[in-house]
Amino acid sequence: MEDLEKWRKAGKITAEALMFGKKLIKPGAKLIDVADAIDKKIVELGAQPAWPTQLSLNEVAAHYTADPNEETILTDQIVCLDVGAHINGCVGDTACTVDLSGKHSKLVEAVKEALRNAIKTVKVGVEIREIGKVIEDTINKHGFKPVKNLSGHGISQWVIHDKPSIPNYDDGDKTVLQKGQIIAIEPFATTGSGIVDETERGNIFSLIEPKPVRSPFARDILAHIAQNYKNLPFTTRWLTRIFGTAKTSLGLKELLHVGALQPHPPLVEVNKGMVSVYEKTLLVDDTVEVLTPYDEDA
Ligand code: MN
Repeated sequence: MEDLEKWRKAGKITAEALMFGKKLIKPGAKLIDVADAIDKKIVELGAQPAWPTQLSLNEVAAHYTADPNEETILTDQIVCLDVGAHINGCVGDTACTVDLSGKHSKLVEAVKEALRNAIKTVKVGVEIREIGKVIEDTINKHGFKPVKNLSGHGISQWVIHDKPSIPNYDDGDKTVLQKGQIIAIEPFATTGSGIVDETERGNIFSLIEPKPVRSPFARDILAHIAQNYKNLPFTTRWLTRIFGTAKTSLGLKELLHVGALQPHPPLVEVNKGMVSVYEKTLLVDDTVEVLTPYDEDA
């Protein structure tokens, strides 16, 4: 396939950045320092962040990253770390979970095993529901529930969530995997009910399409987003470091108002259950190639 070497390189960098980040997640570490260090590592390794590094805590499954003035210090949380890197829009997508509480090792084991079992199921021609069933069965076996309204997904150049959707349960979808597809598999498990909901607006956004805007603040920020991130997600703290707090705040407000931006708010388990995730990106070919290779037990 075209650009395969870019996909491979981006995938390897993503995996390396994930493992680098996993080691930074320790009691006493500042959330903002961990997020910044991982974003920076991706650039040092020769790629760009495909989105701001996400560090979602406890009942938050995804879409949380450090605010510009974030003061959270890691203590005893369960941390879902989601890292993405890209080279010219070829994206690697990975996640892992670090349990600092020492109380949720089984919840973490459930998604590790679900990911391993799901990867064994992947091949050209397999029905997507089969992958979901394997994930659901593995998580249930450990006594937890899969998060049903989060799913794995196809990835294509510059598009981080493409078809097909890869469910974390048997949703009856008889669509089959096709040769050449790149997919991310991301089993989420929870001690709660298995549904997440959006909370407040949060600090991660992506450009839908440029729109005419009145203020020079919004115009400058829009130009920066379009040039540097295209339609990939970005976060407030990346902008405040360039444009300052006031200009960023006013600019984002206007861009949201005119419908130029899609917000990606934190996704929280509705029963406040703890959440875990593991994720890898795969190329579905005659053999299945893990594009983001790392050892889940490392
Ligand atoms: Mn993903």
